[in-house]
Amino acid sequence: MRRFPLIFIFLLLATARLLAVGDWNLVKFEGRDYVSLSNIGQFYQLGSLQQSGSNLILRSGSRCLKGQLGSPEFYINNLKFILSYPVAEVGGQPSISRMDLTKLLEPVLRPSRILNSTKVNTIILDPGHGGHDNGAASLFGNEKNYALDVALRTRDLLRAAGFQVYMTRSTDRFVPLEERAAFAGRFPNALFISIHFNSSGNEATGVETFTLAPRGVPSMAADGPALSDFVPCPGNGRDAENIALACATHATLVYNSAMFDRGIKRARFVVLRDSITPGVLIEGGFLSNPNDARRIATTAYRQQMAGSILQAVENYRNAVGTRPTLPVATASNDTTKPNIPVVITNPSARK
Ligand SMILES: [Zn+2]
Repeated sequence: MRRFPLIFIFLLLATARLLAVGDWNLVKFEGRDYVSLSNIGQFYQLGSLQQSGSNLILRSGSRCLKGQLGSPEFYINNLKFILSYPVAEVGGQPSISRMDLTKLLEPVLRPSRILNSTKVNTIILDPGHGGHDNGAASLFGNEKNYALDVALRTRDLLRAAGFQVYMTRSTDRFVPLEERAAFAGRFPNALFISIHFNSSGNEATGVETFTLAPRGVPSMAADGPALSDFVPCPGNGRDAENIALACATHATLVYNSAMFDRGIKRARFVVLRDSITPGVLIEGGFLSNPNDARRIATTAYRQQMAGSILQAVENYRNAVGTRPTLPVATASNDTTKPNIPVVITNPSARK
């Protein structure tokens, strides 16, 4: 099993306010604002940028950011994120987009500063598909049944831990996507977790976690940019919480299963787009891949997924909004240490 420290590190720059401060050196590139990784290293006290060829590392103590010039893959403490735009050399400096800084790095590095986040006590579980919609299939079974099984196991664990749990379906029935999102919106102080399994060619493997694309960011599940990318969605009001929840969920899923990490991605799936509740959609492996399909068919794997979701929800709740609204930090006078709630505390204690 892979062992790596999965650590939350979070920081919403309260976008405009923080980035308006002169400490951030924004440079225009391809019509977008970029900020250098050196600038990011300085702000988050991650030391100076180490570069070897196209490989880039910012590291300080237990925190580590890794990227590669030209690639959208970006690792925070070895957990894979897919940036909205690849790392680029801008003005001679390896840089990432301001969008990725404010909508990804900040809330992930400093979750306690996410503004207006609610104290979570309710979880909405959304098993994908159902009824006439089987979803993907393997030799062993259908996605709709696996998703429901994981959701029921998760429900039991969450209830035992004191959460209120509601399900968009708890039997094998078809529920339209719009109804699922609307249902979630009825509950305050909630998180929305949609459970799916993937399908593609034989080769594709691993787990991935989707969360809503911020306004203006292309969906990674689409063929290319579309005009609709610029239409604000109800879910965009929860951008910071969405990515924080995705980080918490993906971390425990990947860590506990040691499945291949396909990363945290952005999409505008209806259940994410229309939901006013912070939410994620998890893909727990590929039914089209023989090895993944065999694992998914075991109750042990599905129980482990349920345990990972419980652990993620608890980690999220502990990390987000723990600090009452503070004056927004600036790079020059922010002497407080970014908080680092540990995601994985004692993995061996879990079944
Ligand atoms: Zn599905």
